[in-house]
Amino acid sequence: YAFLQRLDDALQEYEHLAILLLDLDDFKLINDTLGHSAGDQLLRELSLRFAAHMGNDDMAARLGGDEFIFLITDPAKLSQLAAFSQTLSAACQLPWIYNQTAYHVGGKIGISVYPENATDAEHLIRQADMAMYQAKESPLLSYQFYHSFMEAEVARRLETERDLQMALEKNEFYMHYQPQVDKEGKIIGMEALIRWHHPQKGLVPPMQFIPVAEESSLIHSIGEWVFITACRQLAHWQKAGLGALSMSINLSARQFLQQDLPAKIKQILLENQLQPEQITLEITETAVIKNTDKAIQILNDLKASGFKISLDDFGTGYSSLLYLKRFPVDSIKLDRSFIQDFHINSDGASIIKTIMTLAKNLHYTVVAEGVETIEQLDFLRELECPQMQGYLFSRPLSPENMTLLLENNQPLEPVPV
Ligand code: C2E
Ligand code: CA
Ligand code: CA
Repeated sequence: YAFLQRLDDALQEYEHLAILLLDLDDFKLINDTLGHSAGDQLLRELSLRFAAHMGNDDMAARLGGDEFIFLITDPAKLSQLAAFSQTLSAACQLPWIYNQTAYHVGGKIGISVYPENATDAEHLIRQADMAMYQAKESPLLSYQFYHSFMEAEVARRLETERDLQMALEKNEFYMHYQPQVDKEGKIIGMEALIRWHHPQKGLVPPMQFIPVAEESSLIHSIGEWVFITACRQLAHWQKAGLGALSMSINLSARQFLQQDLPAKIKQILLENQLQPEQITLEITETAVIKNTDKAIQILNDLKASGFKISLDDFGTGYSSLLYLKRFPVDSIKLDRSFIQDFHINSDGASIIKTIMTLAKNLHYTVVAEGVETIEQLDFLRELECPQMQGYLFSRPLSPENMTLLLENNQPLEPVPV
């Protein structure tokens, strides 16, 4: 179409040119939360802002969805592509007002240059796209130039996305459950953790595929599968009379900000004859802080329905407990890195102490994650940490092994790894 035609012509005409590809951060989120017409308004406004920075022989176009593409031929800009990228990125980030609320929309830019990187349109665009993905990976960069080493990375990502799509159909996911215990080692609940057995690669860790699923919309169907599977399992244990347990389920940021999430999960509970009080939703600190107003609204809705809310990976993000006072949460999960870095009398130990004291005053329950050693356990007991989870008590277990543990009905003995 017009842009490609123009690019083909420019490749004949100019000795040097550059392709910049800009992809908006969280545009899907805006569409999901404010609606498509808000999304369209934002895109129109951005088109105008970008147009103001184009010279006579430059060209800007929308490349479907939330991507903008720029063809730069102006020698002044070409000699300072980094600075120009920053200009575009700054234009993007100016506040956008919708319904009297200011939104700051970030964008990441990938850059490819002719003739250094490639000599045809197709490759140049693909390379700019790869560079843009790399920029997205790093929170500090707003732009990135293409390098040939990016090829392998992108191939891996695409492959994972393709494989994930198959995984749901072919039943390659299953759940493990890790006990959460009180000070005496008594099991009071568990966290549901997804596992993926890839037919060729074997076990793929969630940290490798959850972020890829988040990027595509696959996280919605995977998340729903997790919720259904964990609830069915809990209902099964409940029917077998294996105690009143709480099930913690992880929600990734995009899932959590989905408009119809509360209705969806309530329906799943209903089908399994479970009460919302039995479910703890684990949401990361960064997910709520990045979208404060929306997050508070959804959290209030979920809490009013009876769900428990837990802030996951606490301490890795903004870690101001006083700030978090605004969020209606029941518990915080003290991140593994705190527990594992601490030595008695170290800074780590006093940070944990401070968090525990503040949490107590704010009536948050604290769950210590990643407890591995007796030394850590003694310290946490001394601080009267109410709940713990970690290899010291148990690794995540298959449903069968968890059933055995529940039938045994004994406190878990700490066994160092
Ligand atoms: P997370 O929510 O922080 O989950 C705890 C992770 O710590 C789990 O890793 C668990 O196996 C591991 N862990 C527990 N105790 C110990 C310990 O004592 N030492 C060490 N070194 N590790 C311990 P896992 O299962 O690999 O999951 C990693 C992350 O993937 C999770 O971190 C969570 O963010 C995400 N994830 C897992 N399952 C799901 C899911 O069903 N949905 C979503 N959205 N994310 C999930
Ligand atoms: Ca978690
Ligand atoms: Ca965690």
